[in-house]
Amino acid sequence: MICPSTRAAALEQLAAFLPKAPLYARDRNHVQPGHPAVSRLSPAIRHRLISEDEVASAVLGRHAAGRVEKFVQEVYWRRYWKSWLSLRPQVWRDYLESLATLPESDFARRVEAGDSGNAVIDHFANELVATGYLHNHARMWFAAWWVHEAKLPWQSGAAFFFKHLLDGDPAANTLSWRWVAGLQTPGKTYLARRSNLEKYLAPGLLESLADSLTEFEHPQPHLPCIPTKEPVTRAELPPSEFQASASTGLWIHEEDLSPETSPLAGHTFAAILVSGHSAAWDRHGFPASKRQWLLEALEDTSRRATEQWNTAASITTPADLPGELVRWAKDRRLEQIVALRPDTGPLDDALPEIAAALAAAGIPLALVDRPRDLVLRPLATGGFFQFWERLQKRGLLPGAIASAGSLL
Ligand SMILES: Cc1cc2nc3c(=O)[nH]c(=O)nc-3n(C[C@H](O)[C@H](O)[C@H](O)COP(=O)(O)OP(=O)(O)OC[C@H]3O[C@@H](n4cnc5c(N)ncnc54)[C@H](O)[C@@H]3O)c2cc1C
Repeated sequence: MICPSTRAAALEQLAAFLPKAPLYARDRNHVQPGHPAVSRLSPAIRHRLISEDEVASAVLGRHAAGRVEKFVQEVYWRRYWKSWLSLRPQVWRDYLESLATLPESDFARRVEAGDSGNAVIDHFANELVATGYLHNHARMWFAAWWVHEAKLPWQSGAAFFFKHLLDGDPAANTLSWRWVAGLQTPGKTYLARRSNLEKYLAPGLLESLADSLTEFEHPQPHLPCIPTKEPVTRAELPPSEFQASASTGLWIHEEDLSPETSPLAGHTFAAILVSGHSAAWDRHGFPASKRQWLLEALEDTSRRATEQWNTAASITTPADLPGELVRWAKDRRLEQIVALRPDTGPLDDALPEIAAALAAAGIPLALVDRPRDLVLRPLATGGFFQFWERLQKRGLLPGAIASAGSLL
């Protein structure tokens, strides 16, 4: 497996990547078999087996900031996308709504099955389905071809990626597709150009795929709708109402799989449940390989949680998550359930139903935020570089926070 599914393996992969971090700015765009120039940590970061801050902190602990700035910036692109979407959750909802109304496309299905007629695109579709991973440049080329050359809706391309990518992320995926399509930075599209493919495709691949490069010769932007600026609609998150009590159950979910590094670390819990949101896995058509990766990550989390809190953690992947949480709380006679707040996405969408089912059974659900998320979230009102400048100016990068002793 090229992307680790346990926290220990992710930390090991991070350690192995550290010597390469200063070469990242030079080598990262090259699309090579095995992807040696990039970290391949995205699924672990996506599900918070490790955090952005841990990754940045390890890299900055080993190298001078100037030598690894590009890598650290990329790591915070992710937090920027998460924060941007959290401030504007309507963008995720609109994406899901338009996806539901799209007509079936035989051509889109053929592209997804690696039968587009373009060998470059087929190569990457097959790689995505087989491995659950694609290099960033391959994602950009594929998405640009899908939107501007094949003139397929960006939403169905984003759904194809979300389904197969092990790092499939409501923010990074949806917003990257919008960026390629010219919606994220209104009017600014990303086009895949032959010269760019020739520069960055590994020589062996380039040779075998050369015949298909003509389609990338004169790309033209295809902008079927007029982009609008998305307003901030959720400037503040509701405050956390968690108060420690003897009969609190800890609910760990796949949006944050290292609760032992969160503010919940110091509490005690009467019971621990680790859940996979299988209703969402079904809705988005996750393949068996991605479910297997998620199960491994849940099992790893359950082991760590059992050790951390000295309380046996059980795992569940029920079709009816609200019902299962109510059953668990009643069986274990819990007075309340606490969880880390999920970011915008399928689990956040399910929260009202979950909270209502628990409330009907007399069990409050308290959500807790990681302080770092709350600090970084309001900085994403503008573009990424504004976000990055704010991080730097306010001393919020790990060098500064690590010395202040708080990465939680
Ligand atoms: C169309 C498209 C869809 C994408 N969908 C996703 C997605 O669903 N989930 C996802 O995590 N990333 C997504 N990305 C961003 C990026 O391609 C991946 O994060 C990156 O390729 C992951 O590989 P890596 O871990 O080897 O990255 P590295 O190059 O080693 O970077 C280290 C970490 O930084 C973060 N990162 C790097 N580049 C980006 C970026 N451009 N945007 C946001 N975060 C970044 C990731 O967490 C990554 O693990 C998408 C990009 C495009 C163009």
